Amino acid sequence: VPELRFHPFLGEWVVTAENRQGRTFHPPAEHCPLCPTLPGGFQTEILVPAYDVAVFENRFPSLTLPPAEVEDLGTPLMPTAPAGGVCEVVCYSDRHDASLATVDVDKARLLVRVWMDRSADLGSRPGVAHVFVFENRGHQVGVTLSHPHGQVYGYPFVPSVTARVCTAESRHFEATGRTLCSDWLAEEIADGQRVVEHGPEWASVVPFCARYPYELWLAPKRHIGRLQDMDDGQAEGLAHAMVGAARRLDGLFGVSMPYLMCVHQTPVGGDPRASCVRVEFLPFLRTADRLKYRASSETGAGVFLCDVRPEEAAERLRSASVQL
Ligand SMILES: [Zn+2]
Repeated sequence: VPELRFHPFLGEWVVTAENRQGRTFHPPAEHCPLCPTLPGGFQTEILVPAYDVAVFENRFPSLTLPPAEVEDLGTPLMPTAPAGGVCEVVCYSDRHDASLATVDVDKARLLVRVWMDRSADLGSRPGVAHVFVFENRGHQVGVTLSHPHGQVYGYPFVPSVTARVCTAESRHFEATGRTLCSDWLAEEIADGQRVVEHGPEWASVVPFCARYPYELWLAPKRHIGRLQDMDDGQAEGLAHAMVGAARRLDGLFGVSMPYLMCVHQTPVGGDPRASCVRVEFLPFLRTADRLKYRASSETGAGVFLCDVRPEEAAERLRSASVQL
């Protein structure tokens, strides 16, 4: 059963979840657990013959509510805690070979609605301190099921990266009365070199400080503190921006781009005036056949070495083929 163990050097929690070792690993397409269940066919996780979007709890969760009882092996220096929380899977296409780059905007709009709904729902559950929406895409980043899907985690604490981001956002808000995201985006738009797409509600930008080659952030032009605070126009804009970003990343080298997509938003107890919804696409290819690895400097020291100038990356993404 999963448990939390405290890392006293980094001051953060680690989820120790041995149960995940048993999870389904690269099943053949005909035994994909995320495909719909066809009449008389293999019984999948989703017991209907077709779906638009399906949300369900992960069968191999690292966090559960109520948390599993565990034998407390902790010490004052290295405490443990129950691994309370929620892990949900969000399948946004019943087509095994679809992706965020090939779904239509209607589907992406529905997906955004689902995120808003899951964020509000999980965020209202006792014991959930932060709702994190993400998608890992590609076997290169460790995905074990190739069927397109994202995930939503309800963490029982504010994760360390989120906490650092919120601290920076709060400091900026207290000092200026404006959000860090709006000031950053205004500077990026004024400069223009790294702007990839510029819609009425959202902009897609390779940030000045990109850590990954072709890293792409989607940021709202009007402030949004939490996913569920979006109005129709903002949700619509995000759907367009997401599909556009995924298509450009695939079009860049003409191959399916492995990426991590991470959605930042205000933690449950945070100040939604200061922290902003922002979507980060962290792509893992630096050329058509070379992966960007998180090596010692990145992982052990927290210093990223980025092989592509962000200005150059934005230019290439702007001219990337976005045909389906
Ligand atoms: Zn499938």
